[in-house]
Amino acid sequence: MYGYYGYPMMYYGFDWTYILVLIGALLSIAASHNVQATFEKFARVQSFSGLTGAQAAQMILERNNITNVKIQGISGNLTDNYVPSRKILNLSQSTINSTSIAAIGVAAHECGHAIQDAKGYQPLVLTRTISPLCAIASKVSLPLIFFGIIISYTPLIKLGIIAFTIAISMQLLTLPVEFDASRRAVQTLADYGMVTDQELSGIKSVLTAAALTYVAAAASSVLQLLRLVLITRNRDNRRR
Ligand SMILES: [Zn+2]
Repeated sequence: MYGYYGYPMMYYGFDWTYILVLIGALLSIAASHNVQATFEKFARVQSFSGLTGAQAAQMILERNNITNVKIQGISGNLTDNYVPSRKILNLSQSTINSTSIAAIGVAAHECGHAIQDAKGYQPLVLTRTISPLCAIASKVSLPLIFFGIIISYTPLIKLGIIAFTIAISMQLLTLPVEFDASRRAVQTLADYGMVTDQELSGIKSVLTAAALTYVAAAASSVLQLLRLVLITRNRDNRRR
């Protein structure tokens, strides 16, 4: 009997590197639960100012002299995002008309991306530049690796791993962009006294929990990359 990678399964037994994938999955699940719980906790806390997410976003944009960004609603929960190419700030149903501090925090974070865009923040520009390349790399990486394994051609597997590395570089580059957007959000809210100090600490909790989901996703991809490298190296060693 031959296993997935063409090795006799009975001899090599369980492919232990799969543990790396499981660790990555557990990290992502934990981060996702954490952000949901933290958001729900602060979604129940109404802001002292009574501002909705949309109003807070409008004020933040104005205070940063940004007049060309349109705020609009988007379906779903926590689907908020900023689209630099169209200068659109999408706020989800749980954010746009809510006066909770969670909503204000999320809206402010998306404004942080609009501020990055307006100021030409380099990591954001870079993510936009490399995004098409990473999308292609992401599509071809696993097919290359599996096809390479099927025809037992190591250079093809290595090419697939390089493509995978390019694909996950996007996730790594997203990390400074996300942390910086939250930093700018908190800064504007504090500078203009839009929230109280206590509210600001709640907002920081929500934004940190959100940032951790990006950290978990990046860590999970790096663990997958490590697994692919280990599998390929074992394969090479066994052939010698
Ligand atoms: Zn973001």
